[in-house]
Amino acid sequence: MGRPLGQHFLRPAAVERLLRAILPRPDEDFLEIGPGAGALTLPLAGRARRVVAVELDARLADDLERRAPANVRIHRGDALAVDLAGLLPAGGRVVGNLPYYVSSPLLRRLLDLHGRARDLHVMVQDEVARRVASPPGSKEYGILSVLYALWADVTIPLRFGPGSFRPPPRVSSAVLRVRFLPHPRAEVEDPAGFERLLQAAFARRRRTLENNLREAAPGLARRLPELGIDGARRAETLSVVEFARLAAAEGGA
Ligand code: SAM
Repeated sequence: MGRPLGQHFLRPAAVERLLRAILPRPDEDFLEIGPGAGALTLPLAGRARRVVAVELDARLADDLERRAPANVRIHRGDALAVDLAGLLPAGGRVVGNLPYYVSSPLLRRLLDLHGRARDLHVMVQDEVARRVASPPGSKEYGILSVLYALWADVTIPLRFGPGSFRPPPRVSSAVLRVRFLPHPRAEVEDPAGFERLLQAAFARRRRTLENNLREAAPGLARRLPELGIDGARRAETLSVVEFARLAAAEGGA
């Protein structure tokens, strides 16, 4: 059974490994998602300037607030709903051992911190980490991989087995390191239209790109040859630059 609110707390040795990957500095501000009992929050506060932590569980938030030093602020709320950019000073960093039951929507939201956050170090299920970090051509490559590739360099610096958590989750975990780029990898004029295109292109993974696009964007499906993209390819083989080219053509059609 999954824990309520995805509460799997990091053991001290795992926190140390995570901190060595994050390398916090005394002049840096952090936003933490899901501080829980403060396993990461408290050592981070000792090494950074400021930590703002968003916690949904009111009991954990109250308890942590009582024990936290003055440079920690606990924000009670749902990380999927609160204004995360408003909680993070420009150039700040984002960390968290994310609640796994909402890791994908949270990753989608955290991506919108490009232009505000410097980087993210977040623990997620290994399978989810691979979906975000995979390059084109791999079977894990999908919508989140393309969106993250547009805005960031993504790597997986650490992996953790279930024994690094209390209680242990059923799956293996990994840390995603996301370093935001100063400029996106490709020009995307209409971000919402770009995401709609990705949803259409990846709608049925086993189908060709042309077949997937035929329903949602028939004009674009017909223009694939003229855009230099073979419609017999599958969406999982297209780079973010190729998707941006398709989106620009769709926008201008
Ligand atoms: N950071 C702590 C640690 O590593 O020991 C706790 C991590 S635990 C995997 C996830 C934390 O996120 C829990 O404290 C849980 O209450 C909190 N949480 C769950 N859903 C949340 C949400 N939607 N918004 C903010 N926090 C949430």
